[in-house]
Amino acid sequence: MKDGSNTLVLLERLGRLLHNDAHREDLKPTQWEALRLLSRANRFSRSPGAVTAYLGMTKGTVSQTLAALERKGLIKKVRVPTDRRNLALELTGEGKTLLRKDPLADLEAAARRLPKRQMAHLGDNLQDLLTEALRRRDGRPFGACKTCRYFQPNVDGGRPHRCGLLEEPLSTQDSQLICVEQEPLG
Ligand code: SF4
Repeated sequence: MKDGSNTLVLLERLGRLLHNDAHREDLKPTQWEALRLLSRANRFSRSPGAVTAYLGMTKGTVSQTLAALERKGLIKKVRVPTDRRNLALELTGEGKTLLRKDPLADLEAAARRLPKRQMAHLGDNLQDLLTEALRRRDGRPFGACKTCRYFQPNVDGGRPHRCGLLEEPLSTQDSQLICVEQEPLG
């Protein structure tokens, strides 16, 4: 490693802190990540396949993770009659309550002590780094729906928006959520 190596070592240490913190409330780090994803993902992205794409892990590991969360009563499978994919994973009330004790809160508190502009700058840079790292692995970005090239704002027959890829109506709340199919505007 040459240029930027210190930055990468810092990132690794930060990742280690987060990983160590995430053994809380009888959950593992991956289980926390899956809960976070399900709290932020749109209805097209709450499937085992989408969780697998997001975590970048094997199908088997993700299926064990989801089974453990279901056994603990933190997530459930629900039918979505308006969606052709039909079955989605959802946080239960207990899952939502547990997420209020998210171990990331500690880092969030540390981040609040930094100037807002500095944090925004850091966020932009980390996003660029992640995008490039995912591109090299054919990973999916999971960006916000409203930043997708298929997002059609305020169209006839929308609710008020529409997805041009899946041909489904989208609410304003949907537009804020992240999506497995998202492709950033060029
Ligand atoms: S517009 Fe893009 S991000 Fe939104 S639902 Fe469609 S594919 Fe997903």
